[in-house]
Amino acid sequence: MEKRYTFVINWKMFFDFNEVIDFVSKNLDRMIELSNLFDAEIILSPSFLEIYPLVKIFSKTKIKICAQNCSDHIKGPFTGQVCVKSLSTLGVYSGLIGHSEIRRYKSETNEMIARKFDLLLDFGITPILCIGESEKDNKSGDVFRVLEDQLSGPIKIVASGEKKINGRPIYVAYEPEWSIGTGVTPSLSQLESVFAWINNLVRRASPNSNWKFLYGGSVNPSVSVEISKIRFVNGFLIGRAGTNFEEFEKIVKSTILGVDG
Ligand code: PEP
Repeated sequence: MEKRYTFVINWKMFFDFNEVIDFVSKNLDRMIELSNLFDAEIILSPSFLEIYPLVKIFSKTKIKICAQNCSDHIKGPFTGQVCVKSLSTLGVYSGLIGHSEIRRYKSETNEMIARKFDLLLDFGITPILCIGESEKDNKSGDVFRVLEDQLSGPIKIVASGEKKINGRPIYVAYEPEWSIGTGVTPSLSQLESVFAWINNLVRRASPNSNWKFLYGGSVNPSVSVEISKIRFVNGFLIGRAGTNFEEFEKIVKSTILGVDG
């Protein structure tokens, strides 16, 4: 069966409010065309403040909006946090959780991430769970131990069968920390073995769930085609290259057409 690819742009804090709106306004028609013509699933992840205008702008299109984070609490005295229920009310499709920049700068733990995963499912939002090892863990051969620790909480939640998932995809984005924003990507053979291992782990625990796997870390048009052909890779989580529409367009087109951009 042909793969249907997913492309998530994580704009992080690269743009301010006006810049996001400008970017979207300038490239609106071409974005919609990409999502229609190439049947690509395109998911945009702006910061919280741009979520509402973007949900409105894209409401009649196939382009979906993702939050970059959420609170691990349902409600209460948690100053500065954003609750999952509000994201759901606004029409947010998916939520990034466990991004390495939040694990690192906000000391986020696997337990907190599992609580966010649980809440997103409760409110009908599709989780995009980011996992990935540090350079140190990679060098010391600890990759699979780290990934298993990061996956075990969410896997238990899915495997318990207690959540109403109704066939909705559950995305796992493998993003080695040492590849994010560095211009360095793992070798194809490293990626093949990591994705096969992740696939095996999650499907053993919950064979009937709709698991989807993304690769993230310095994705650009010259590496995307080869990575997209790896078994089990369903698409990309894209940071820096998503701030330049032409680059993003090349990634989407070349991946889908299977020829270098
Ligand atoms: C990311 O932050 O999720 C990411 C993949 O960034 P970049 O593409 O810039 O490496």
